[in-house]
Order: sequence, then structure tokens, then C-alpha cells
Amino acid sequence: MITEIKYKKQICDMGKRIYEKGFVAANDGNISIRVSDNEFLITPTGVSKGFMTPEMIIKVDGQGNVLEGIPPFRPTSEMKMHLRIYQVRQDIQAVVHVHPPYATAFAIAGIPLDQAIMPESVVYLGTIPVAEYGTPSTNEIPDAVQKFVHHHQGVLLENHGALTWGKDLEHAYYLMESLEFTAKINWIAKQMNGDRELSKKHVQSLVELKTKMGINSKSPIGAETAEGIHAQKITPPLEQSLSEHDINLIVEKVTKNVLEEMKKLF
Ligand SMILES: [Zn+2]
Repeated sequence: MITEIKYKKQICDMGKRIYEKGFVAANDGNISIRVSDNEFLITPTGVSKGFMTPEMIIKVDGQGNVLEGIPPFRPTSEMKMHLRIYQVRQDIQAVVHVHPPYATAFAIAGIPLDQAIMPESVVYLGTIPVAEYGTPSTNEIPDAVQKFVHHHQGVLLENHGALTWGKDLEHAYYLMESLEFTAKINWIAKQMNGDRELSKKHVQSLVELKTKMGINSKSPIGAETAEGIHAQKITPPLEQSLSEHDINLIVEKVTKNVLEEMKKLF
């Protein structure tokens, strides 16, 4: 049984990681962990997440009442957003909210990450929708996020940043890293007018693989693409430039990498 102090240290280490990674500036971002059915550890407001110490971390209940905390530290103003996710998904143990530059740019542009451009994002991440803008600290953001919590692993917060949730803190963080990486690659490919999607057939194979691997997050990328919703974005189709054999080799190679990454997580 992991002790609370270990969880607090994990949060501090993760704060350092998101700060050094450039996912947050100044005092931005917040992190939380569920420690029991109705107790949560959460980062304080007004503090750089890169320089936190365990005594700064606050314990709250599901209603947001402070159970333990040393003044002057108070819970993040985005606490309601974290608590809503825990309330809706009992299986979720950690939530990460940051402002990574590429993902935040997509959030500002209102563009979801829903193109099947890389096997990793189809298998591991799934679609990342945009949750409608809400005023920070009100119930508007939790309400906007709630509709996506069951079927997705994260969202872009319109004109704001990104949010992921996972079975533990490491998982929630890797989803965020993957989300930002997907946004970055997507943006670079767009500059080359080359954001071609995988064909319906290959997306379908990846979705089947995902099911076999027991990843139960929804992958609307596959479902939508299989129905042809994104078909108009495939210009030119991947098959025109690569042979069937080449594609199979690429899918096989990337699948192997994804499986190796997944082993680290589960
Ligand atoms: Zn924020």
C-alpha cells in the first residue's frame, strides 16, 4: 500500500517533469491523484509546478472541502474539473492539466485531434475532442468536459489547454505526452500539406489490434474513418504512394513499437 507521502512526492516529481518539458509556464497547470474513494491529493494554486515540495500538496474530499493543507497553500482553482472526472469515472486515479504549446494551439483554433495520421494515436490515444470554452473555476469547464469523460482519454479545453486522465499518474502523463506529440506532428504535416490519414482498411486493423490489446477507450478515429467521414481528407490516398507491402511493413513496425510502449504502461 503506497503511502500518502509517496503520492505527494510523485505529484512533485510530475510537476518538475511537466515544467521541464515546457508543458506549463509560470504557475500554470495542475495535477491530482485519488488516494481513496473520497480523498484526493491536488496541487496548490499560485505555485510553479516545477518547484513544489510535498507539504504544499493539499488533500480534499469529493466536494472540494480541504481535509489537510498547510496555509497559505490553497487547492488549484481548477479543482472542480478534476473532481468531476473522479466522480464520473471510478476507475480513474490521476488527472493532469497543462498548456502544452501545440495542443493548446489546436485548442485555440478549435480543431480536435481526430485524424488517423499515425498508428500510435489510433491505438493508444484515440480521438481527442475539444471541450467547449468555460470560465476557469466555474462549473462551465467540468460540465463541458463531462460529456467526453466516458469515451475518451483526454480533451482539448477550448482556448485554454489540455486535460488527460488515467489509471495512475504515469498513465495520465504519458497520455498527455502522446497528445502533445500528436498535435506537434499533425501541425508539422499540415505545413507540408501532408496530413494524409491512414486508409480505412489500415485504421480498421489498428482498431482490431487495440481491442485485442484490451484498450477499452473509444477510438472514434477508426469508427468514423471506417464510415468514410474523413475520406475527403485522404489526399492523395496512402496507397498511391506506398505499395501494400510497404504499408504492411510500416504498420508491423509501428505496431511493435506501440506494443513495447504499452508493456511499460500496463
Ligand atoms: Zn489551465
